[in-house]
Amino acid sequence: MPDPRELLALLATKSIDPATTFGGEPEITPADVAAMLAPLTQCQSRLLRVKYAGEAQDYHLLWSSWFIKLMDRGWSEGDGMVEKLATISLEEHISPNRCWACKGTKGAMIANKHVDCPICYGSGYKYVIHDMQDPWNGRLEWCRRELQKLEQAAVDGMR
Ligand SMILES: [Zn+2]
Repeated sequence: MPDPRELLALLATKSIDPATTFGGEPEITPADVAAMLAPLTQCQSRLLRVKYAGEAQDYHLLWSSWFIKLMDRGWSEGDGMVEKLATISLEEHISPNRCWACKGTKGAMIANKHVDCPICYGSGYKYVIHDMQDPWNGRLEWCRRELQKLEQAAVDGMR
């Protein structure tokens, strides 16, 4: 079984290549992948589809459900800050670069123990530094960890 995130590319029309599908049935169809997404929450499913299937039209729906999740934390102070936080954290998560600390390996050795990389929280991604005042910096870190957990739970939910 390949990583479900690789299968999500089947949902993207741009991934359909007549040269590779001609003359035979693909083993896994887009309908199969869609069925695998069925048990996920809307937020989980949208995150995977926007990030890995290139479904840009669902970005605003994903943003809305992520924004609502952040508002539910009670972070209402600061004019427009929750909107900014939702956008920054989501953009970082969807369009990542490789983590400088672990070189994308997601792990680190601390006191002779293999642990999740503390810089990227085990995601392998590089985060852009944003000039946000406390408490927003801490909240952005929370968002990064939560999005990584959300994606992992979504992938686990597809298996
Ligand atoms: Zn790292």
